[in-house]
Amino acid sequence: MSRTYEVRTYGCQMNVHDSERLAGSLEAAGYVRAAGGAVPDVMVYNTCAVRENADNRLYGNLGHVASVKAANPGMQIAVGGCLAQKDRAQIVRRAPHVDVVFGTHNVGSLPALLERARLEQEAQIEILESLEVFPSTLPARRESAYAAWVAISVGCNNTCTFCIVPSLRGTERDRRPGEILAEIEALVADGVIEVTLLGQNVNSYGVEFGDRYAFAKLLRACGTIEGLERVRFTSPHPAHFTDDVISAMAETPSVMPALHMPLQSGSDSILRAMRRSYRAERYLGIIERVRAAIPDAAITTDIIVGFPGETEADFAATLEVMTQAQFASAFTFKYSQRPGTPAAELPRQVPAAVVGERYARLVQLQDSISWEQAKPLVGREVEVLVAVGEGRKDAATERMSGRGRDNRLVHFSPNPAAAPPRPGDVVIAEITHAAPHHLIADARVSPPRRTPGGDAWAATQPPAATAGSGRAGVWLGLPRVGAAD
Ligand code: SAM
Ligand code: SF4
Repeated sequence: MSRTYEVRTYGCQMNVHDSERLAGSLEAAGYVRAAGGAVPDVMVYNTCAVRENADNRLYGNLGHVASVKAANPGMQIAVGGCLAQKDRAQIVRRAPHVDVVFGTHNVGSLPALLERARLEQEAQIEILESLEVFPSTLPARRESAYAAWVAISVGCNNTCTFCIVPSLRGTERDRRPGEILAEIEALVADGVIEVTLLGQNVNSYGVEFGDRYAFAKLLRACGTIEGLERVRFTSPHPAHFTDDVISAMAETPSVMPALHMPLQSGSDSILRAMRRSYRAERYLGIIERVRAAIPDAAITTDIIVGFPGETEADFAATLEVMTQAQFASAFTFKYSQRPGTPAAELPRQVPAAVVGERYARLVQLQDSISWEQAKPLVGREVEVLVAVGEGRKDAATERMSGRGRDNRLVHFSPNPAAAPPRPGDVVIAEITHAAPHHLIADARVSPPRRTPGGDAWAATQPPAATAGSGRAGVWLGLPRVGAAD
């Protein structure tokens, strides 16, 4: 019988995508995915190290799984991703029951390392210092039938002083446009109708092959792929944002009117200390030009509170930029001291109580802005790509959920006169209620437009599940676009 596996993923979209490659590599080696709730033969943790609580969570989970392993002889435990790249052999010292530790540059080695650990009865630790094989060349087991992640680059050439990513993911490596487009075409042929282009800094895409307009060109080229309905990307960096990207967004109908652009701080002196080379004025200028070209664009961001040396005046500047920017939503983070980063050595670390109090004010302001931004959508028709797993209360409310073109979460009541939509299908829904973090459409919802995405989803379901509602069966998950962590 085949050995079973489970992959648990922490952190950003890049990790979620790496996990698809991990699962694909394991399946190519003969493993099968463990049934929900069953103890797998191989448990893989794909870890994150961006903030400190990730460390604590991993070691907590490893402590818990020790007893599971003790009760299931032959079970193997593997730890990969950013925290593995950072902690290396320390993981096995702190959790001796771990069988394999692998880094961010050798995702494809996992099956071989598991095999070696089994044969040699000894933990295998393999951390490479740089990328040898671009993960996109590895087999993938995609989490969604109708939406896919596509890595356009890995690593980062920036040196933001708070950030541990460059030391763990290495310098930027760009994939060739032809290779990316061929991957997207193959995905579309499989029924995918939405892709999210991934990179730590998509605006610097092309630096490796000397074309600073490569990202805008890539967006336009995506626009020529027939059957590809929605193109998203994350994350652009304000310092490298060029106006041709705005034109490409505005002039390519399949590029969605949504921009996730991390601000981090609204204070110029904090931005300088963070080594983020744009200033608040430039950031707001980009937003203004995006809104002029794409009036219904939803703009979202990342903000860090409590960077070392942040004064009340610096924090007030962040609140001010937030107010001016009118973000649709924001991922807000308390600054976390990461070992080895320049900011961790700075003298004026902000006390936790101050950070907590500022954080609460920031969230309160953003919630009220998000709500104000959402209210005008009441009465408007929104195109919703029906998703899986986006509405926790759907079963109780008899609604289904999906994302609008601007990436807003919409919970809708399916049209009672039509067959229920399948995940991957599209409905037009009139918004009846707006909340800060979601929209509701309970009245005029169109019958579904059946798409190749819905067909691809249906093909993954056992026959009984597809006969009726898309709510039955084993659901695959839609990538949570824009979810920072
Ligand atoms: N490359 C992306 C960029 O620069 O826009 C960000 C990638 S990072 C994985 C995602 C977010 O985590 C960042 O935008 C930042 O807000 C947050 N982050 C990174 N390091 C952090 C730290 N030390 N403490 C708190 N938040 C942090
Ligand atoms: Fe980290 Fe800055 Fe690179 Fe983003 S741009 S990954 S925050 S160093």
